[in-house]
Amino acid sequence: MKQYLFKLFNEKEYESVYGKNEFKIPSLRVSLVNSCNEDCFYCHNEGAPKNMPVSIQAGDIINTVYLLKKFGLKKVKFTGGEPLLFKDLKNLLYKIKHIADLDLFITTNGTLIKKRIRDLSPNLLNKISVSLDTLSPDVYKFITGKNLLDEVIAGLNILKKNGYNVEIDCVLLNGLNTSKNSIKYAAMYCAENGFDLQFIELSDKMPPGLYSKYYADPCAVLQNAGFNFKKDRTNDRQFFKIGGSKMTLCRCVKDKGEFHSGRRGGLRLLPNGVLKNFLYE
Ligand code: SF4
Repeated sequence: MKQYLFKLFNEKEYESVYGKNEFKIPSLRVSLVNSCNEDCFYCHNEGAPKNMPVSIQAGDIINTVYLLKKFGLKKVKFTGGEPLLFKDLKNLLYKIKHIADLDLFITTNGTLIKKRIRDLSPNLLNKISVSLDTLSPDVYKFITGKNLLDEVIAGLNILKKNGYNVEIDCVLLNGLNTSKNSIKYAAMYCAENGFDLQFIELSDKMPPGLYSKYYADPCAVLQNAGFNFKKDRTNDRQFFKIGGSKMTLCRCVKDKGEFHSGRRGGLRLLPNGVLKNFLYE
């Protein structure tokens, strides 16, 4: 297993993230499905093309988690496509939390929270991240191709009422949600509801024409809105606090040849059962 895992990282990459000590894999991202009920124009589907055959079952994921626990696995994050489309979610979350005793996270577009709330629990999930790039219905429809903003807001209200730890993920898209007012409105909405907010730099894994049209320098956008982010010493990420809510900035790794200590990484399990490595900062 160790040799197999080493093949996924080149040695320099691995050392830049975890150092030269014992071989460890603290973090696993699981793409439960590659389908989604939305159609965001920037979607890269976590590196799992929509035509990828989906074969992964809850049992396969649980077995993988057990194997990786021997390599220091502490945290599992479920993504998609849209992970709330995975039918066996309740059983999966329960087993991994109670038998493997790991920290569990899920990233969802939020549109199905109302329908699937019985399969979730604040006791099982350390945090639920909800993708929400805008609070404007028209811009939301433009970005996601769907008119589902009301469903997301209703889902967020349910999470708040039930005491979930919620983070809003907001991808910065030039001209769509980067104005001073948009940024301040997003920050105020999160602060008022007790949600954390993560601003995410647009990934270049999309057609170059669209990328150059919608890419915005996150530092410039946040400075323009009057937020002076500072570095968090514990994880090297930039952050800002409003009341009890924490705003953070998640940047993309563009140059894989350039390594530094602020970078983090882990393994990604795709819906066809293949494991891959990933890096972010
Ligand atoms: S909600 Fe997420 S998975 Fe679905 S289309 Fe948008 S970016 Fe892709």
